[in-house]
Amino acid sequence: MKFDIDSITRKNVRELKPYSTARDDFKGSASVYLDANENPYATEFNRYPDPKQNVLKSALAQLKKVESQQILLGNGSDEIIDLLIRAFCEPGIDNVIIPQPTYGMYSVCAAINNVEARLPHLSPDFALNIQNINECINDRSKIIFLCSPNNPSGNLLEPDKIKLLLQSFSGLVVLDEAYIDFSEGGGFLPFLNDYPNLFLLQTFSKAWGLAGLRLGVGYGSKEIIEILDKIKPPYNINTITQKVTLDAINNWNQTIKWVDKLKKERNVLEGLLKQFSFVNKVYPSQTNFLLVKMTDAKACYQYLLTKGIIVRDRSSVILCDNCLRISIGTPIENKELINALSTYQNME
Ligand SMILES: *Cc1c(COP(=O)(O)O)cnc(C)c1O
Repeated sequence: MKFDIDSITRKNVRELKPYSTARDDFKGSASVYLDANENPYATEFNRYPDPKQNVLKSALAQLKKVESQQILLGNGSDEIIDLLIRAFCEPGIDNVIIPQPTYGMYSVCAAINNVEARLPHLSPDFALNIQNINECINDRSKIIFLCSPNNPSGNLLEPDKIKLLLQSFSGLVVLDEAYIDFSEGGGFLPFLNDYPNLFLLQTFSKAWGLAGLRLGVGYGSKEIIEILDKIKPPYNINTITQKVTLDAINNWNQTIKWVDKLKKERNVLEGLLKQFSFVNKVYPSQTNFLLVKMTDAKACYQYLLTKGIIVRDRSSVILCDNCLRISIGTPIENKELINALSTYQNME
């Protein structure tokens, strides 16, 4: 299937002349800046941040082995999800395909933008079901949102099936890899140049430990990035976020160590959880959380609450009957969880 970026972009976005900031109009460096109505007296944060985030993007490009022009930075991945829908989906006319269960923000963003979300099911083992997806696609389908490893199920989607969709779908395939650092599969970044309709999402919120800063990353062709760049708020990444994230990239060894510890803890926790009589299943995980099927998820959730331990109740989510989603904590926190669950078991 031939992918044509112009034909999937909304007309108003295609024709948009973006806002030009003071920093866009003058790109060099100077000694006196009187062009942006900033306060000259304050010194630390008085200047607007770089709207193109050039320094941060080139560090990230080097780390991830892509071109700077293939990167879009967002105020969290959530902002990028919204930009994608706004760039490519005509409200009230176009639709997006979101296999379920998955991360909730795709369908919320679609609803906010008055874009129909079509919700085919994954298989009961949370694998991609191509037939279910194809049955939802029509000529107004602009984006398929996939999440791999998937939240809340924790599994990687099969690469071959993702490639099949990339080849057969005429719109954009957005692959959210928020948890890719915790997985054994390498992810789809190396295939970015092979598929013009592939758009990847990653984030500094999970493995990198910077959820409070809000930095999401989109990777796509230069053409896709150019369109999203046109409609993003000019100063969407603040000065502190740009600086601290750059420091984190320069110190990427720390992230590797955290990921290593969390994966080991995840495997220990998986083994311990499986031994409880009230645990029916612990789904295999390629992430920093475990999806656990209980005999009575709500009762277990309420009990943990009384012990001051908060997990995520996913029992009302499709295919997740009686499931809790438990993030991997420190060894001490995980031990506290296991102790609480042991007491819970003895009470039953
Ligand atoms: C946590 C998470 C994100 C991260 O969103 P940010 O806005 O970057 O914090 C994105 N996608 C999925 C599937 C997630 O679980």
